Order: sequence, then C-alpha cells, then structure tokens
Amino acid sequence: MKIIKTLATVLAVGAMALTASTAVFAQDKGAIGIAMPTQSSLRWISDGNELKTALEAKGYTVDLQFAEDDVPNQLAQIENMVTKGVKALVIGSIDGTTLSSVLQQAADAGIKVVAYDRLIRETANVDLYTTFDNFQVGVLQANSILKGLGYPEKAGPFNIELFGGSPDDNNAFFFYDGAMSVFQPLIDKGDLVVKSGQVGMDTVGTLRWDGAVAQARMDNILSANYSDGSRVDAVLSPYDGLSRGIISSLRGVGYGAADLAWPIISGQDAEAPSVKAIIAGEQYSTIYKDTRELAKTTADLVDTLVSGGTPEGLDTTTYNNGVKVVPSILLTPYEVDASNYQALVIDSGYLKPEEIQ
Ligand code: BGC
Repeated sequence: MKIIKTLATVLAVGAMALTASTAVFAQDKGAIGIAMPTQSSLRWISDGNELKTALEAKGYTVDLQFAEDDVPNQLAQIENMVTKGVKALVIGSIDGTTLSSVLQQAADAGIKVVAYDRLIRETANVDLYTTFDNFQVGVLQANSILKGLGYPEKAGPFNIELFGGSPDDNNAFFFYDGAMSVFQPLIDKGDLVVKSGQVGMDTVGTLRWDGAVAQARMDNILSANYSDGSRVDAVLSPYDGLSRGIISSLRGVGYGAADLAWPIISGQDAEAPSVKAIIAGEQYSTIYKDTRELAKTTADLVDTLVSGGTPEGLDTTTYNNGVKVVPSILLTPYEVDASNYQALVIDSGYLKPEEIQ
C-alpha cells in the first residue's frame, strides 16, 4: 500500500515537473537576431541553422539572415534587427570593422552582442566572442603540409606558394600568422622557397575568401614563376573554397597527371567537395572545426547573457579588437587528411557518408 502511495506521489510530482518544464519551453523569451555572412560556403548555412535550432529550443524566436558577402546588406539586416527590438545579436561579420555605428545603437537599446567566429573590431559594444583557436588553425595547416612533404626526412628545398584569407576578416591574420610561425624559420633556412616571392597578408590575402580570385592569382603565379619546368611542391591555402580554385588552376597546367603529382595543399572547414578531393588525392588536408559545437556553445552563452548572468571560463587575453580585449571562447580545431577523415568527419556525424560519395 505504502509503495503504491509513494509511486503515486512520484508520478504526480513527475507530472507537475513535466507541466512546469513544458511551460518554460513554451514561454517566449524574446527574439534573437542571427546575422551570417554568406550562403556561398556550406559552413555558414549549417552554423545559422544550428544556432537557430539551439536558440528556439531555449524558448527564443529567431530572425536568421544571410548577407551574401555584401557589407551594406549585412548592415541593413542588423539595423532591422535592432529596430525590431531583439534581445541579442549573434553576428558572423563580413567586414569586422564596419559595424561600430549600428552596434552603438544596439548598446543604447541594451541589446547584447556576440561576435560569432569572426571578431568584430573597433568597437566597445561587443560582449563576447565565440570562435576556434584560429592561430592553432594556421599551425595545424603548416604542420600538415610539412607532413605531406615528408619534411624533415626529405630535406627539400621545396617550392611553396602562400594564400591568405580575406583581409577584412580578423581570422585571416591569425591563420596566416599561425602558419608562418612554422614556415618562416624554414624559409629563412632555405628548406622552403616561395618562388614567386609573394609573402605577407597585404600581398597574399584573398578578398571575401573568393575561390575565383585565388584561382586567378595561382594562374599568374604559375605562368610567371613555373614556366621553366620547376614544380610547385606545396600550397598554403586557408580555406577549402580557395583550395578548390587553386586545384583548378593547377589542373589547367597539367598537375594531377601521371607525370606531375599534385602539390601538398591545405584547406579549412572540411567541406564535402574538399573531403572528396582529399579522398581523391587532389587536396592533402583540411581543418575540421565542429561548428555544431560552436553554435551550441554560443546559444548557451546568449541565454546566460540575456538572462543577466555572467559567463565563466572565458579567455581574456587573446583577442583585442582595437578598443578592448573581447572575452572569448576558443574551441579546438583538428587536422583532417585521408587517414582520419572517416573518424573525425563522418563517424562524428559532421558530414553524411552520401555527401562524400
Ligand atoms: C572562418 C573559416 C572560413 C572562412 C571563410 C573564416 O572567418 O573562420 O572557417 O573558412 O571564414 O568562410
């Protein structure tokens, strides 16, 4: 009898808890604006969708916009979100220096601002930055290239060409600096040779991460520096979309044929077409960043901020945006090549097996 009564009590309490949690879930906690840079790269589409789902599950309504790499378009989208009275903005910026005035309006309205993956620069009005260890991304890319070259067992010298990301994206400098922290001593020793002589972000940057721009630059490098029978042994590419442009250029002059092996080419984002290129031996490696984890972490932080809480465990030294050090979360990036893509990218569910067939 006693047991039955206890069981009944447990069930009743359980039912109440269920009602209470359903009520919390259904409660509208306000709107969040998500401004993503572009749909031209797959990662940003999934970042946007993952964020939206995670925030909706917490009881927020979400306004998700993509700006197609157009700065005025992104500004207008964010202005619109501020006018609509969102509680917080999550921004994957296109040009990290152009948002100061709209973010002043946001601050005046008490709206919290999270810089998503890309730092927002030159403003005090950014509360948090969630990203990956971007310097480490560059270190991983460079070490992967050395592994692909067989260095130092094979001594070289190896011809390498360098590509950087978009100069209006703060990350691009971290990727490049990370890679050069590995390469520069070897360039100084003569083990790596940049035959084109093109070094430094002001020379090797690729505006808006545009693969066609990288392809055209690679065409020029090849015709100006490699028409003498010398070969490109490696290419530092910071992003899969650029790697694909670089591969097209190289294919155009005969690389990938039996007598001219592909150079060792890096990448980033583990995009499906590039994982396919890795399996096919055209691209050597990419960097896998679990953007599902970034979205989930960001949604948790937004919820904390909007609820008046103080996020803990943040990095308060790495990212100075020109006005202040923005407290950051730095998630871990991983190198992916033909030997480990299955475990890291497929078995983790990041890509579906059919996407790389
Ligand atoms: C991101 C990279 C991405 C690049 C181009 C960077 O800000 O961190 O993951 O490859 O933008 O979209």
